[in-house]
Amino acid sequence: MTESPCLFDRILDGSAPAHTVLDEATVAGFLDVRPVFKGHTLVVPRTHVETVADLGRGVLGELMEAGRRVAAAQRTALGCTGTLFALNDIVSQSVPHVHLHVVPRTRGDGLRGFMWPRTKYANEAEAAATASSIRRALDAVTSTPQQPEEQVAPDQVLVRDALPVDTARLAQLLAGGTLRAVEDPSDPAAYEPALAEILAAGNATILVAEVGGRVMGMCQLIWFRHLQERGGLCAELESVHVDAAMRSHGVGGILVEAAVSRAEALGCYRIQLTSHRSRVDARRFYERHGFEPSHVGFKRYLP
Ligand code: AMP
Repeated sequence: MTESPCLFDRILDGSAPAHTVLDEATVAGFLDVRPVFKGHTLVVPRTHVETVADLGRGVLGELMEAGRRVAAAQRTALGCTGTLFALNDIVSQSVPHVHLHVVPRTRGDGLRGFMWPRTKYANEAEAAATASSIRRALDAVTSTPQQPEEQVAPDQVLVRDALPVDTARLAQLLAGGTLRAVEDPSDPAAYEPALAEILAAGNATILVAEVGGRVMGMCQLIWFRHLQERGGLCAELESVHVDAAMRSHGVGGILVEAAVSRAEALGCYRIQLTSHRSRVDARRFYERHGFEPSHVGFKRYLP
């Protein structure tokens, strides 16, 4: 059996040590190895789930319910009078397995600056506008069930190889889809030599999806020879971006399936991609298109 790469999975299956405080069918709790205060407990779902967005409603409820009970137990066992519940989701989350911190608190315990730096609203109007915009967005999130978006018919989408004339539009799509603030669509010339090099390389292309004559999606397909698999050809999909107005309309699916067909036509034995773990919808999308989340991707940005 291969060892799970997730520390908390290993704690849950007993292959890594921890001091258990709660052991139930859906959730478990154990002491944080570096407690804010003694008794600081982490409550986790038994199933490996990385982000709050990925948690089912039932499990989320059980997690909070277990946190409530652990907090009550801490008061009895430790004599503390209150609790800090905390959950780092993606940002500052050092273990990619959802965990609720249940930290025992007592007035005067010296815990300060846990949530900082703080800022100020310029005035009451700014605060009211902020609250109102969140309320509106919340209404949209809560309005269920979600209606499926209208799908664009496949014959309305033309997938083709990119041309130099597409450069400015590709820079816009990259800027609209990236998680890193590094793209600059105001300077398309910066992208021109790269596009020319990719198109000339003979082992890569940029595919674009046109809807109504306008480029609404892009992806980069690279193919390279492996020594493994008896010298098999492997394809890699990168930079899959769809214009925000066309997401959930089937354009991304048509584009990805076109990339898969191209890889097949080239004789590739596998097509692979990585997707940032914060992009929950993207991961579901790739799974719907037959990609298995089988590996953990590692990236190291170089200076
Ligand atoms: P966060 O930074 O919110 O992701 O919290 C992760 C927590 O896991 C930190 O408070 C760590 O102290 C705790 N931690 C890391 N390794 C272990 C371990 N082996 N056993 C128990 N807690 C751990």
